[in-house]
Amino acid sequence: MLKSAYVEEVFTLRAGDRVELLGWVRNVRQHGKLVFLDLRDSTGVVQVTVKTGVADEEAVKTASTLGREASVKVVGRVVEDRRAPGGREILCERLEVVGRAYGEYPIKPGVGPRFLYDNRHLYLRSPKVSAIMKIRSAMVEAARRWFIEHGFTEIHCPTFITAAVEGGATLFEVNYFGRKAYLTQSVQFYQEAAIYGLEKVFSIQPSFRAEKSKTRRHLTEFWHIEAEMAFTELPELLETVEQLISYMVVETVEKRKREFTELGRRFNVEVVEPPFERIKYEEALNILESKGVTISWGEDLGADEERILTEQFDKPFFVTHYPKEAKAFYHMPDPSNPRVTLSADLLAPKGYGEIVGGGQRIHDYKLLIQRIEEENLNPQDYRWYLDLRKYGTIPHSGFGLGVERLLQWILNLRNIRSACLFPRTRQRIYP
Ligand code: ATP
Ligand code: MG
Repeated sequence: MLKSAYVEEVFTLRAGDRVELLGWVRNVRQHGKLVFLDLRDSTGVVQVTVKTGVADEEAVKTASTLGREASVKVVGRVVEDRRAPGGREILCERLEVVGRAYGEYPIKPGVGPRFLYDNRHLYLRSPKVSAIMKIRSAMVEAARRWFIEHGFTEIHCPTFITAAVEGGATLFEVNYFGRKAYLTQSVQFYQEAAIYGLEKVFSIQPSFRAEKSKTRRHLTEFWHIEAEMAFTELPELLETVEQLISYMVVETVEKRKREFTELGRRFNVEVVEPPFERIKYEEALNILESKGVTISWGEDLGADEERILTEQFDKPFFVTHYPKEAKAFYHMPDPSNPRVTLSADLLAPKGYGEIVGGGQRIHDYKLLIQRIEEENLNPQDYRWYLDLRKYGTIPHSGFGLGVERLLQWILNLRNIRSACLFPRTRQRIYP
């Protein structure tokens, strides 16, 4: 069954051209002996008119009995019609049913968001979800292109692990043939091993976190774009992140103009023009204090603090030099002030919050052991990770970027779930 044309082509063909379309029926309207079908495929919707004289009686009868979401093949001519959406329609000559729709289609106007997520497998047919998925695809493609053009090698890391990367609280435990294993929260440690051979690496794969609190920007399974770079310190890391984010967003907005319009979303690309401002954790606390929010030194910025802080900015900005206590053990202490680390988060403005987390890693063997012990972790669990510091260690840095977070921000989605094909949250693992 070879597809000869897509719906979007109907709007570029000449009137009178004959096309064969394959798609789904969104809607059927009958006016006497005239039947109008809205035919949808992956590229859009076009009106198809079925009437006797042009098509046979049988086709008109078939058209009038089609249920919503039946799949059909339509052969007909393109005609100009100012009343039709887009100014074009198809005058049907032949109609064939590919797959009937049995029963009433459950996705109807007025159903609530919960119902739509319970029926996500069907709701994926909506042009809105398709637009989001096309934008997401363009975004990931841009990231991959940027990395390749900048000398990074793409690697694929394991998902089953034996020791935490981001702290035990959000680990998913799995039974690995009677042994305890976990689903990884990040592939950072494997990337750190890989840079000794490849120097600059990136991965695009899922990370898993047993997020216990209900928020609008936490998933339990999300797609993580991670990168690690040999011979790299914090300042170069920040430049890498701002260049990448800027490229990804500009490319996506350019390539997917139509989808942004369909979603009624505008994104002003000046917002992601580098450089992004860099402020230290300490300055962030001062800004918060001036807004009447006091957190004690050493605490991480929570969702509320991030919201208030980011409301003061119009562009993404880095918060750097978080205290040791607020970050995982592998973050490099600042040699000029060991109470803080050479870490950085990129926060999106106007109330949104974190989209990238990263920093320089500890590359000194003894210091790393000391930090592991200070956090009450067992160095035995990190044997191979420690080995990396034993043989030709190097300063290195890396970061993680949440695909759904970036998408949620640029599309201004209320909930991160909308950025996923089949979202996974504490409350949802079906469908
Ligand atoms: P947060 O404080 O928002 O929970 P984090 O500090 O735990 O984030 P990192 O460990 O730095 O996040 O992970 C790197 C990036 O991965 C984050 O900046 C974010 O974009 C994304 N990310 C982290 N956790 C989640 C999650 N539960 N759902 C979706 N994306 C996430
Ligand atoms: Mg977290």
